Amino acid sequence: MEHQLIPISIEDSFTFSCTPGISCFNECCRDLNQFLTPYDILRLRKRLDISSTEFLSRYTTQHTGPETGLPIVRLREDPTSGNKCPFVTEKGCSVYEDRPSSCRAYPIIRVVSRNRESGILSEHFALIKEPHCRGHEQRYQQTVREWIHNQGLAIYNEMNDMLMEIISLKNQRFPGPLDFISLRHFQMACYDLDSFREQVFHQQIKNVSEFDPQLIQNALKSDTDLLKLSLKWLKFKLFGTKD
Ligand code: SF4
Ligand code: SF4
Repeated sequence: MEHQLIPISIEDSFTFSCTPGISCFNECCRDLNQFLTPYDILRLRKRLDISSTEFLSRYTTQHTGPETGLPIVRLREDPTSGNKCPFVTEKGCSVYEDRPSSCRAYPIIRVVSRNRESGILSEHFALIKEPHCRGHEQRYQQTVREWIHNQGLAIYNEMNDMLMEIISLKNQRFPGPLDFISLRHFQMACYDLDSFREQVFHQQIKNVSEFDPQLIQNALKSDTDLLKLSLKWLKFKLFGTKD
């Protein structure tokens, strides 16, 4: 049986549960094609207590997306262990509280589209059923909304939507590859937050001071706010807009 993708609305219920006793435990943590979002990287590097620069070099690979022309970061699998995720252990996920958004959301897929005229984002969901996953045979029932809440996805979705807006604007305004400088800005603002912090607070990035002073103050204390600031800065650098 091939995998199935079943459209589902946010108030619809589905039956699913994933617990350590299940026969397929850890099956989904190998043969990865795990893309990482900026917020995934922020959470994982904090969890591991290393810099974003070190995290990127130790745990990821990067390539340019064929459709967007933008840098994409993937978790590097371990080829000596059947392409397992570097964070999986016999007891399960060693970074569970900070696991990436796609691991949290599974078996729900969230797709966001942006209206070209109004700029309003709308979200759509699908339930993925794969033959190896026995979680669908469990009796625990919840709505998609409850799943999002229970998996702590709200902040991931909020941050991922900020990135999605930038990607969508880039595709509309500059189809094809970005120039070298813009690519460097994108890579730093999205993925290498510690380099962005260093450059901002050593004043190598000048126009950050034009942003909301409260956000800048907050960014001194919180990495999430620093990422919000870096994404706003990137939007300004690429498109000249602060909204
Ligand atoms: S981060 Fe955790 S849940 Fe996600 S693939 Fe790796 S071990 Fe599995
Ligand atoms: S139930 Fe599905 S998500 Fe959970 S361990 Fe098994 S394969 Fe992975």
